[in-house]
Amino acid sequence: MVADSITAWFGTRKVLDRVSLTMRKGEVTALIGPSGCGKSTFLRILNRMHELVPSAALAGEVRLDGSNIYAADQRITAARRSIGMIFQKPNPFPAMSIYDNVVSGLKLSGIGSTREIRDVLVEDSLRKASLWDEVKDRLDQPGGGLSGGQQQRLCIARSLAVSPRVLLMDEPCSALDPTSTRRVEETIEQLKGSTTVVIVTHNMQQANRVSDDCAFFLAAQNTPGVIVEHGATEAMFDRPRDQRTSDYVNGRFG
Ligand code: ADP
Ligand code: MG
Repeated sequence: MVADSITAWFGTRKVLDRVSLTMRKGEVTALIGPSGCGKSTFLRILNRMHELVPSAALAGEVRLDGSNIYAADQRITAARRSIGMIFQKPNPFPAMSIYDNVVSGLKLSGIGSTREIRDVLVEDSLRKASLWDEVKDRLDQPGGGLSGGQQQRLCIARSLAVSPRVLLMDEPCSALDPTSTRRVEETIEQLKGSTTVVIVTHNMQQANRVSDDCAFFLAAQNTPGVIVEHGATEAMFDRPRDQRTSDYVNGRFG
């Protein structure tokens, strides 16, 4: 997935300025940087959620396998189906059963038309999300009854059930216990190779553990966010080229 010269506004306020980034297929890209520098806005632009915010505007292109998701002939629903999003706060349908939560995205996509196919998909998606063993005996119980960490993994299973090409994750572990965090990281590890993952995280250890590439966002006082530096995660942490990257990854600010 390629973001090409993305500029974003809320009203007259520019919050991202000509940000370009290639997120390599089947690999994990971490977006790091202090609060307010535009990471969430950038992520929302990658699956066309930004345009739902009143007053929001953008310029630039996002290409998935070469085609611009903002082209006139591209449907917003198509982008959403192939580009999933996980938020900081888990948002399962609380009254809906665990089983129905997992298949809730399937109706639009037309997959899972028979009970047998749905059963296989539910197990497969919950296994991929490292949640199957904890819920396999209570699939008919409400999603809202799970712990926060389990709810987040349920949301991941729901996203994976429609086989997205890209999974966007906005600080998915920042409200989770250490065990759920580890499970989510295992899931990301397993997705490598098949799914392109873009994850925003404030946890530098997590960025270091899970990502192949890393992009450091920064917005200087009263200026829009830009990418200061990006590259292989190892290089970003061990030998950053920019002093600001070095200061940030070593916890000297932000
Ligand atoms: P980050 O995720 O890096 O913390 P955000 O993308 O959330 O940054 O925010 C970037 C800038 O855009 C911030 O200054 C924020 O206040 C502003 N912003 C975010 N969402 C909105 C919105 N819905 N309306 C107006 N301004 C917003
Ligand atoms: Mg954010």
